Amino acid sequence: MVRSRGPRRIGVFGGTFDPPHIGHLVAALEARAALELDVVLLVVANVPWQKAGSRPISAPEDRLAMVREAADGAEGLEVSDLELRRGGASYTADTLADLRRDEPDAELFVILGRDAAAGFATWERYEDVAAAATLVVVDRPGPPVELDGRFAWQRVDIPELELSSTELRERVAAGRSIRYLTTDGVASVIEERGLYR
Ligand code: ATP
Ligand code: MG
Repeated sequence: MVRSRGPRRIGVFGGTFDPPHIGHLVAALEARAALELDVVLLVVANVPWQKAGSRPISAPEDRLAMVREAADGAEGLEVSDLELRRGGASYTADTLADLRRDEPDAELFVILGRDAAAGFATWERYEDVAAAATLVVVDRPGPPVELDGRFAWQRVDIPELELSSTELRERVAAGRSIRYLTTDGVASVIEERGLYR
């Protein structure tokens, strides 16, 4: 299924992942299959600059630990701590430049959910992002989310999972179960580290 010759096709799926959930995993795996990507990188944002200030964000190390658990055993998913190692505000434009430096021939695909795709033109240096990678929106089947017509979007239909990290945080805070909404490994990290209480 996945092409094995030629330059690698790399999906870049960035997020705050506070916490990661099955919506993220389904999106990443479906994009990988539909676009025949060799790998999808789950790129954990260090400082998600669009969210900073609006709510407390879990420590990058905690979010990284959860994403590692989420990706555990998922073929073709890899966790990237590139943005944590770079430090400061996390801009996808910089991340793509870093990936390109390591693997000049790779074909890069930036994968976005509906809300992220709709807000793409608010990103720092979004034109650089669009020049460096193919933009992919994972969307529910049916009428598409409105997209910036200046760019050639690829679309991958995924079953809609009406789920967000916000919902999971609220559930944990209220003492409700998050079972089956994320992986058991993620739930264990949340429990052990006392996140979202
Ligand atoms: P929050 O509720 O804190 O905003 P989130 O669930 O939206 O969290 P993010 O880390 O903000 O998660 O999103 C990372 C990426 O995952 C974004 O591209 C977002 O559009 C996408 N995404 C989030 N939830 C889903 C979902 N249920 N299905 C598909 N994609 C999703
Ligand atoms: Mg979000």
